[in-house]
Amino acid sequence: MERVLELKDFNVTYVNKYKKVYAVKNANLQIQKGDSLGIVGESGSGKSTLAMALLRLLPEKSTEISGTANFIGKDITKLSKTELQKMRWKELAVVFQKSMNSLSPVHRIGTQIEDIYRVHHPDASREEIFKRIEYLLQLVNLSGRVYNLYPHELSGGMLQRVSIAISLMHNPKLLILDEATTALDVVTQGQILDEILKMEKELDMTRIMITHDMSVVSTSCNKVAIMYAGEFMEIGYVKDVLKNPKHPYTKGLLSSFPSLKGEKSKLEAIDGFLPDLSKLYDGCIFAPRCQSAMDKCFKAKPRKLETDEGFLLNCHLYGGEN
Ligand code: ATP
Ligand code: SF4
Ligand code: MG
Repeated sequence: MERVLELKDFNVTYVNKYKKVYAVKNANLQIQKGDSLGIVGESGSGKSTLAMALLRLLPEKSTEISGTANFIGKDITKLSKTELQKMRWKELAVVFQKSMNSLSPVHRIGTQIEDIYRVHHPDASREEIFKRIEYLLQLVNLSGRVYNLYPHELSGGMLQRVSIAISLMHNPKLLILDEATTALDVVTQGQILDEILKMEKELDMTRIMITHDMSVVSTSCNKVAIMYAGEFMEIGYVKDVLKNPKHPYTKGLLSSFPSLKGEKSKLEAIDGFLPDLSKLYDGCIFAPRCQSAMDKCFKAKPRKLETDEGFLLNCHLYGGEN
């Protein structure tokens, strides 16, 4: 299977005059072609930081990045600005929760999409561009009518569909959706999710889906990575992790979703709060909240149990002694 993304000991630290925030720590991850990986974890666990670091969207002055992030054979952390520009949108695209806000309010939707298309196809004829845009708008279930409209004339859901269409413009190899549908009502969310799944098949795409919503993972992903306080706790196939969660944090998370199909509750079922990420800890980062914590959990980091497929368990109950 072709490997699309591989992170090895990937770290992202925010740095300012007064403190450091260790937002992503020693992340190891593999994504193969055709995978749809859900990244789940409570607020502040480092999900967006990871996404932005992969697109190199974080300000270099105030962030330190170490480790490697191999994306189809190239280490993203080492790419020059020109190489990055070539790669963004064309090979690696992202849609954030508020991507729709990045559309200019004073230009028609069509003109904006055309401009973005021309970045990678400066010589494209108008006919070629129209064809492509028509196809993309259809894919996200929008009529060609939006072409001549201004952003304020579209609903939030329609604008987010436009953002998704833009992200697909160049058939990216990897699409990252960071809470891309969270702000929308449940019906629109469901529709967009269905369209994403349809497109994926059509475009042979690989996807990372960052979400708080385990039901989104269960319906649209084949793998899941559970993140807590900047670290991956458990990575595996969705069908295994949801049916038989192993890590105490995963168990807690899942119990906060009483029924994946039923009413959703926030990820608040686990007592306590995220630790202060400006400190580094000797033991397991989840120990103060873990009901299975043992003495050693407070003293030493668990040895991660990792498989060749990129699956992981980061817990003393499974990894043995360091
Ligand atoms: P959410 O689910 O709420 O979107 P998240 O998992 O995406 O949360 P991040 O936004 O990646 O979490 O934040 C991870 C940690 O990094 C948090 O402690 C956050 O406060 C911190 N952080 C984020 N941006 C910065 C920044 N620019 N400077 C310093 N710390 C930051
Ligand atoms: Fe709980 Fe210990 Fe496992 Fe951490 S290492 S999750 S504290 S059992
Ligand atoms: Mg986020």
